[in-house]
Amino acid sequence: MARVFYDHHGDMGFLKDKTVAILGYGSQGHAHAQNLKDSGVSVVVGLREDSPSAPLARSHGLEVFPTREAAARADVVMFLMPDHIQGAVFQSIRDALKPRATLAFAHGFAIRYGTVTPPEDADVFMIAPKSPGHLVRRMYQEGKGVPALMAIHQDRSGDCRSVALAYGCALGCGRAGIIETTFAEETETDLFGEQAVLCGGVTELAKAGFETLVEAGYQPEIAYFECLNELKLIVDMMFEGGLSWMRYSVSDTAKYGDMIAGHRVVNHSSREAMKELLSDIQSGEFARRWIDENHSGRPNMSRWIRDESEHPIEKVGRDLRSMMPWMESKEPPKQDTGKG
Ligand code: NDP
Ligand code: MG
Ligand code: MG
Repeated sequence: MARVFYDHHGDMGFLKDKTVAILGYGSQGHAHAQNLKDSGVSVVVGLREDSPSAPLARSHGLEVFPTREAAARADVVMFLMPDHIQGAVFQSIRDALKPRATLAFAHGFAIRYGTVTPPEDADVFMIAPKSPGHLVRRMYQEGKGVPALMAIHQDRSGDCRSVALAYGCALGCGRAGIIETTFAEETETDLFGEQAVLCGGVTELAKAGFETLVEAGYQPEIAYFECLNELKLIVDMMFEGGLSWMRYSVSDTAKYGDMIAGHRVVNHSSREAMKELLSDIQSGEFARRWIDENHSGRPNMSRWIRDESEHPIEKVGRDLRSMMPWMESKEPPKQDTGKG
């Protein structure tokens, strides 16, 4: 079983005389900076010149500096900008770091795939909340916390684990539980989960179901409700009580259908495809392709996002969501090519 740590395992004394630089003020950055500050940690925020986020961070009572200057002031430097640019940011601050400054991450990509090579004498840890940033902040304010993963990559001082745990507790995650992992395990499972199940898997499943019904002559509106809208109800039940609770809650007919049909759709060849994805993640092939895509200005991703936004499931979804005024329908900014 995994080792889990709580507030009583953490000693905030390990952050007492330290300054933490939070680089980036997006989803995770705003939550880390504010939670740590509210926990009594000395925090500075590092942002690029003319960052649109600087006024927001200042309005939250935080000191903001250009990225290099924030890093130069810090004993612990937390990287909270998109993963594919962390290597470039590290290069730009490397010679400004204090001797033996600790590097910290909320996801293992940069270390696992070597876009950041930490100085030999640096401590390197990860605290990765298993939740979007706004929830990390909101739960903290409500006196609760979200679970997090912790990993140690380099412990040169002998204190790295204690500092990481103190950081996790200051973030509020010790209230929920901090599970020990490694950079490799966190990175590889995170990438696999989003590709095979959470993002890639679920969206293709919804589209394939929708297309099958529409091609057979059913109305797109009905297909949308059955294959996408109702996913939320099912996922909420799985979230609250696992597969058993969802199956207990749906009709016996739905349960019987689940039993005889699921493994015909997600079958041997789907499982083989999952193994191939995992193998590309483990070998670094996926990371290489993603880094190349960024270097060449994201041509494939831009085209794909545009094409996908025009899929009939999206068109009918927009119309149907306008019939559900209790829900605030969301739309990404025009010409979205992904964050970052
Ligand atoms: P965001 O995309 O929200 O980060 C935005 C921040 O990064 C902004 O402050 C932005 O600056 C800054 N930034 C963007 N481009 C640059 C650049 N070229 N140079 C310097 N700064 C830049 O990131 P997330 O919070 O989503 O992710 C941060 C880390 O946390 C990642 O490692 C991610 O994997 C991890 N993580 C994310 C989770 C999430 O739910 N989002 C969950 C768990 C971990 P500006 O303000 O100037 O625009
Ligand atoms: Mg994830
Ligand atoms: Mg991820």
